[in-house]
Amino acid sequence: MRLYVKCVHCKNEIVYKTNASTRVELKMIHGKSLELKCKTCGSKAHYLIDKLEARENKTILSIALLIFMIFTPLIMILFWRLIWISGLGGVLWLTIFISIPSYIYIILNKNEQNRVKFFNRS
Ligand SMILES: [Zn+2]
Repeated sequence: MRLYVKCVHCKNEIVYKTNASTRVELKMIHGKSLELKCKTCGSKAHYLIDKLEARENKTILSIALLIFMIFTPLIMILFWRLIWISGLGGVLWLTIFISIPSYIYIILNKNEQNRVKFFNRS
């Protein structure tokens, strides 16, 4: 999970990576606040864990999108002959195969959104 907070000195965003999935978990490790160093101005300050905000990890979403974009045409190419041979049944299979990568994408996307929501509410 990536957590963001604005630097008290220069107002730039400080990113903090953690494996904790809730604020409670984070507080158990660090206490009420966390010392963070700003990459922009180099100043160190204590930030309340309650002030940290989780945001969706765009990397996970990009990977999911990549899976979707690679697998969909691949499936189309692989099963193209089969679809031609089997006619209407083939169309049905094609629909199922295409919906698998989209399904994975939706699940990953939803999962990440839920993680962020869960953290921000905790
Ligand atoms: Zn700063």
